[in-house]
This record gives sequence, C-alpha cells and structure tokens, in this order.
Amino acid sequence: MTGDGEGRFAFLCDFDGTVCPTQMMDFLYQRFAACGMEFAERWGRGEISTQEEIVSTFDTVSASREEMEAALDTIEIDPHFPAFLQFCRNHNYSFAIVSDGLEWYIDYILTKHDIYGVDIYANQIHFEDGEFRFEFPWYDDETPMRGVCKPMIVRRYQERGEVVVYAGDGMSDFEVVGVADLIFARRKLARFAREQGVDFTEFSDCRDLLEKWQAL
Ligand SMILES: [Mg+2]
Repeated sequence: MTGDGEGRFAFLCDFDGTVCPTQMMDFLYQRFAACGMEFAERWGRGEISTQEEIVSTFDTVSASREEMEAALDTIEIDPHFPAFLQFCRNHNYSFAIVSDGLEWYIDYILTKHDIYGVDIYANQIHFEDGEFRFEFPWYDDETPMRGVCKPMIVRRYQERGEVVVYAGDGMSDFEVVGVADLIFARRKLARFAREQGVDFTEFSDCRDLLEKWQAL
C-alpha cells in the first residue's frame, strides 16, 4: 500500500517485542529488581496498573543508572528496523514508537544503534540522587490500567487526517484494536484481535512487516 499522497500514513509501533525482540521491562526486572517478575506477573493478570507495576518493582532496584545502561548495551534491535524506518521517512509518513515501557531505555537502545530523531510516546523515569521518580505524561482515564493510553495517541494522528497503521505484540496494545486503521500483530495481540473479530495482518519481523504493508 502506498497511499494517495505523501504524508498520508502514520506508522505507530510498539517497542518491546516489536522493534526490539527483547521484552525490556522483564529484562530489567529479572536482572535488577529484588522482587523479580512479581509485579509484572500481577500486571499480566490484570490485577495492577502499569504505574503500580513500575513503581513497585523499581522500589526494589538498587542498581544505578550506569549499571543498568551497561546491561542495555547488550540489547539488539530487529536488524530490519532501520530499513523500515527509512522507508517511512522516504515516503514522508509519520513514524512514532508508542510504548508502555520507559522512554529512557528506548532512546538509549535506539541511539546505541545510531537511530536518531524518532518520536517516542512512553512512560518516563528520572534518576535523582540514587532515587527513581516516574512520570506518566500519556496516561488517560480511558485506559486506567496502562501508563500510556495508546488509543489516545492513535486518535491524535487520525485527527490530523492521517491513516494510522499500528504494529504490536502484547497486552498494552489491545486497546488500539478497533481504533487504528490497520493492525499488524503477533503473539498476544494477534490472538486478541482474532478473538475480537477485527481484521489484522500477522507479521514476523520488520522486513516481513514492510513487505506485507507494501502488498496490501
Ligand atoms: Mg510489546
């Protein structure tokens, strides 16, 4: 699909499990949190919100920013992501990462791979004198269990007249089903969209995503 004119599409993309094969919150929790996956598992069962999960888990982290960033240095991204991003830029499509994880590690990992200038909508961690402070600038009551209200971000692009294509893999993407104009999904998101009876395209990686998008 190429669209009728330049700038017509906005491509919004999840990060953990989509651009980055690693589930980054789990990666950090398993390495650095004394409580491990306890709160992440409660989130997965729908018992607590993203905000509660993040704040409660980081309460048990004693590692410094530098120690955690040394671990981030080992993280790979989808090797086809740079070409996918370049395709969007060449066509003047909007592109943004919309993540219920943390902007800090997304920005760190992209920069590490020489990727710059990507818009990121995510939760924020601030490192202050050995303490962690969190902000949730994209929270909305529409999705009280999420730190980032993904359907709200999708609608912002739609209200600018753009056709929103969304790609994701997990629970924090569920609320965009029925809101985004085109959905690319895998894993839990694919199962959810199927259960909802909403059309979507399954994809394996960023090369497959680009090929299938162009073929639509
Ligand atoms: Mg994900």
